[in-house]
Amino acid sequence: MEKEQHPPNLEGRNLMSDLEKRIEKAQKFLSRFRKEPLGHFINGQSVKGESKETFGNITPVDNSRLGDVWSGTSSDIETASIAAEQAFLGGWRDMVGAKRCEILYAIADGIEARAEEIATVESMDTGQPIRFMQKAAIRGAANFRFFGDKAVEAGKGLSLPAEHHHNFTTRHPLGVVGVITPWNTPFMLSTWKIAPALASGCTVVQKPAEFSPYTATLLAEIAYAAGLPKGVLNVVNGFGESAGKALTEHPLIKAIAFVGESQTGSYIQAQAAPTLKRLHLELGGKNPCIVFDDADMDRALDAAVFMQFSLNGERCTSSTRLLVQETVYEEFTAKVARRINKIKVGHPLDPNTEIGPLIHPTHHEKVMGYFEIAKEDGATVAVGGGRKGSEGCYVKPTLFTGAHNSMRIAQEEIFGPVLTAIPFKGEAEAIEIANDTEYGLTAYVWTENSPKGMRVAKQLEAGMIWINSENNRHLPAPFGGMKASGIGRDGGDWSFDFYMETKNTCIAYGTHSIPKLGI
Ligand code: NAD
Repeated sequence: MEKEQHPPNLEGRNLMSDLEKRIEKAQKFLSRFRKEPLGHFINGQSVKGESKETFGNITPVDNSRLGDVWSGTSSDIETASIAAEQAFLGGWRDMVGAKRCEILYAIADGIEARAEEIATVESMDTGQPIRFMQKAAIRGAANFRFFGDKAVEAGKGLSLPAEHHHNFTTRHPLGVVGVITPWNTPFMLSTWKIAPALASGCTVVQKPAEFSPYTATLLAEIAYAAGLPKGVLNVVNGFGESAGKALTEHPLIKAIAFVGESQTGSYIQAQAAPTLKRLHLELGGKNPCIVFDDADMDRALDAAVFMQFSLNGERCTSSTRLLVQETVYEEFTAKVARRINKIKVGHPLDPNTEIGPLIHPTHHEKVMGYFEIAKEDGATVAVGGGRKGSEGCYVKPTLFTGAHNSMRIAQEEIFGPVLTAIPFKGEAEAIEIANDTEYGLTAYVWTENSPKGMRVAKQLEAGMIWINSENNRHLPAPFGGMKASGIGRDGGDWSFDFYMETKNTCIAYGTHSIPKLGI
């Protein structure tokens, strides 16, 4: 990184020594991954699997190798799926919800006990700043407790009386489910899928992203230490095109919970079609943040900058298109530019760092490519627009102005700390621009006029809308997108609808006449 990150004053020296201590600790946590290639976690054990090939895992801090990982094969997926099926039939399916709740609570305790390790390993593996990863680890524990509580009544249903019959519904776990996760916040997203799957009585085979494999293994270790019966959670590392594809095609897998790119989601739909799997797809986004001239400008400014520049901008819910009413466009974008200029880019383990390195050199190259594309399309690079430092995958936080919505920087998911500002005249145009995208994950609306906020929210094509707020997650609320941003919802009871089958049982009172044939 550039020297300017650590000015040689007293404060800087203290910071450096703290950072050095954190790096030293990180090396201890990471040393296990250097000793031998990371294997899979199948039937409660760490195993090498069938493959003869490994792939290298790097840290985007300086692109140095953290270790090697065994590249899972279809035969590893087969072994893991059989182990998960046996665990499902052998007891997990029929375990009383209160007992599953106990185990999920014990997993939450285990996550909290290893939260520092999880956050540190995740930061080094992904480049995500430690300030956010600390919270992500704790949120992972909260997910296990939340869905643990719900395990108790996961099988609940409705009572639907009729004149001569009584119908009642019950829910039953699907069986073995496949969980395929991306690299942006891998630990938190894994818990978001795995906790409700386990709470509902399903067993799991997970395929973590190849760019960020480590914390999935930590979660499996924690789960088994907490008393999870063997085979209930299995992890197979490897590439999407091999291990991931095999998981989506395996006949024992009843459903796939997928988080990743829209293009990958469509491949998965095709791959899973022959075995008729249930799918939940959480995909990309190009989310608008609409700022009207009657908004609370200070709060809107905080939220707009936070939602695009937290988590390195590698965030599906990021507010990547900033739509500002033309009456306040110049003033507001000037304030945004000043804030972006002050964002601290640095080592992800430094608690002062607000933006760390992007996940991998290939993604870094993709994001950097948009700086040229923006200029070719006629936009202005108002702030940033280039590499930061000489090593690792750092970029300067960037603001594009002079843009319109048909430019590639306004249509394509860049997935980096890059914001495109676009002016609009009034309510109708704001809605038109906001909806003019193939995606529909989230939208943010800023106005002090509540009826206007409600009118706009009603017309926005997005699965999740926040009015006068940044993304603020409430675990019982549904999460998911429209259009190319996904199919299905999870969160709260929606997760149980996905991981469980609803069965209707109809009992006759013996009072109705049965049609007679062959008399
Ligand atoms: P990706 O689609 O490249 O990979 C995601 C996972 O899919 C990885 O584990 C990968 O190995 C696997 N995969 C790839 N090809 C596959 C195939 N043919 N069959 C089965 N599995 C396959 O996504 P990414 O680059 O890791 O993550 C970034 C993307 O995730 C962004 O588009 C982002 O918006 C999206 N995302 C969405 C949400 C949401 O909730 N909507 C949340 C986080 C990230």
